[in-house]
Amino acid sequence: MKMGTKLIHPGNEVDESTGAVSAPIYQSVIFAQQALDTPGRWEYTRSGNPTRAALEETVAALEGGGYGFAFASGMAAITAAFCLFSAGDHVLVARDIYGGTFRLVHRLLPRFGIQIELLDTVDLENVSRAIRPETRGLYLETPSNPLLKITDLREAVAEAHQHKIITIADNTLMTPYLQRPLEMGVDIVVHSATKYLSGHSDCLAGVVVTGSQHLANEIRFIQNSIGAVLAPHECWLIMRGIKTLKVRLEQQQTTAGRIAEWLSTRPEIRAVYYPGLENHPGRELHLAQAGGAGGVLSFRLPDGESARRFINGLRLPAIGSSLGAVESIVTLPATMSHGALTEEMRQTLGISRDLVRLSVGIEDFEDLRDDLAAALQDIDS
Ligand code: PLP
Repeated sequence: MKMGTKLIHPGNEVDESTGAVSAPIYQSVIFAQQALDTPGRWEYTRSGNPTRAALEETVAALEGGGYGFAFASGMAAITAAFCLFSAGDHVLVARDIYGGTFRLVHRLLPRFGIQIELLDTVDLENVSRAIRPETRGLYLETPSNPLLKITDLREAVAEAHQHKIITIADNTLMTPYLQRPLEMGVDIVVHSATKYLSGHSDCLAGVVVTGSQHLANEIRFIQNSIGAVLAPHECWLIMRGIKTLKVRLEQQQTTAGRIAEWLSTRPEIRAVYYPGLENHPGRELHLAQAGGAGGVLSFRLPDGESARRFINGLRLPAIGSSLGAVESIVTLPATMSHGALTEEMRQTLGISRDLVRLSVGIEDFEDLRDDLAAALQDIDS
């Protein structure tokens, strides 16, 4: 099955009892047993629910892993993956990551004795040098958020597996439609399904997928223990979103590419970060591990004040801290998506107030371009 077909079918089998083509929403917490000694397939929704199982089957099939798990948010999914580690374990984490993930690994996990080391994974020599006997995990995000830096997934896995290190990749920006890290050897994929998988800014959700039965057993135990599961109605919303992922993302990607090219010609724009651009340093590597450059780009204005004026001058994109939706969304990462970083880390990474992130929606290119052009005119006024 090709990807466009896969997006429609696995997990969405026609309901045998009614013929419904849309997965039924089992809005029930308990599933009654026939008798005390005869438990059924379903018992209690935290440990399993048929609607959630349908979504979990869908995302597992899309990522090419046997086992999927749905959580109440992307952060709940990422937290579940980090719960694989114990006090004393050393975990290497790409420093270019979503701000909420930074908050989790920098401020929360050390409370439980997990030793986190943040490093630049674009140069994998840094990973080789940082590995210690107690290193158990390597966490990656490629392209990274918000600067779209590229990490070589195959090389990272090769290095990590020599040392029996579990690799985890956040695949939110690409989605399985464009990039499938498990096929490149990554052990666990995590997603904020809030973004492209949902696609409509109406549902907070996260998923974990793995091809390893051993890791799946662990994640299932963690999911049931923590209990941050996705509710049946939200599971259904994500499944509905997934069905149109191909058409949305193809459109978003085409428009994002055109916007990136157009911004590159504008004198007010100091830099454009988009892995589809010829001058992006990671372009070749990215296109060797993904089917396209996606729908998110970032760019720099002359300074923080002009970025502020520019964002306030836009009429079409929503100003918000999200991405991957049908409507375009503009973000100032320094104060929004990456506000949880330390000032020092923001400076190291180049996430300053002149940097703007744009998640391109499915609006027409000409309307978005004209809106961006009008807002650029405003920055000097
Ligand atoms: N990963 C990435 C790349 C994100 O952009 C986000 C949210 O912006 C998350 C994870 C966290 O997801 P959620 O907001 O669904 O908890």
